[in-house]
Amino acid sequence: MIVEPRADHVVWLDGAFVPWREATMHVTDHHYGVGVFEGVRAYAVEGGAAVFRLQDHTARLFRSAHIIRIPIPEKYGRDLLNDVQLEVLRLNGLTNAYIRPFVFFGGMLGISPGTQDLSVHVAVMALEWNRPSAYGGAGSISTGISLKSASFVRNHAGSILSKAKANANYMGGILAREEARACGADDAIILDHDGFVTETSGANVFAVSRGRIYTPPLESVLEGITRETVIALAAERGWPVVERRLARDELYVADEVFLTGTAVEVTPVREIDGRSIGSGARGPVTEKLQRLYAAHVRGDGEHRSEWLSRA
Ligand code: PMP
Repeated sequence: MIVEPRADHVVWLDGAFVPWREATMHVTDHHYGVGVFEGVRAYAVEGGAAVFRLQDHTARLFRSAHIIRIPIPEKYGRDLLNDVQLEVLRLNGLTNAYIRPFVFFGGMLGISPGTQDLSVHVAVMALEWNRPSAYGGAGSISTGISLKSASFVRNHAGSILSKAKANANYMGGILAREEARACGADDAIILDHDGFVTETSGANVFAVSRGRIYTPPLESVLEGITRETVIALAAERGWPVVERRLARDELYVADEVFLTGTAVEVTPVREIDGRSIGSGARGPVTEKLQRLYAAHVRGDGEHRSEWLSRA
């Protein structure tokens, strides 16, 4: 689980490593949800720790900032932010960890981020991650989780700008997830204006149906790095993934449904809206992709070394 860091825990903030308790924001910092961030995982590997697809996460952070028009100061380039993420692990003695780089505007109460009053802050923190799964116990990895279709409709593609991993984009997902949890489900599945499946509050969605694997197209979902990883791993096995819109009842009758994400890794879905999916337990395609993903993130057996950055 994510545990409270030790008293000597450090965070990188605006160019320097500072003690955890000093890594604070000011009350006037721009609080309109304009910010971008990343969620990155490090894993214990033989002889230390490695970050999975570090450069890809950093590249997405810069794309997000470009979309939202947050000018990341030139002195904090990609290479520097990659190094900082490795260093924050080393300094805190972390191996299995969640790394959170984020970029936000500093103070003044005005709404427009174009004003010269707004400075840009960049921070990187890392926390230990020892939970067997993002959904709590090991059961969600083997048995799967339950989802509920959200009553909240996905923002229009021209509003959510889903290629940006931007703070404000999470409002819909948070409302949907809380609603799902209040109804006894583990997470929400969010539908677009036309009723098609997009993603969950923090993961991409896949369905296995009659021997084919499907996932919604990128037009309205985050360009998940795990999504891309799983598509590549499946293709290597001769299982091409078809990217097309999916109606929610296509998920109800799928043989398998699973989620992908840095936090959820590959998580089976056993139930959606009270209907059991397939056998009601993890299916064989999900299990195979889960195993392949686990091996790749830990550099365990067959893996692509270019996806791992040693800390
Ligand atoms: N969709 C949303 C809304 C997310 O927050 C995430 C997690 N970053 C994902 C999909 C999965 O993306 P990734 O595989 O890059 O973690």
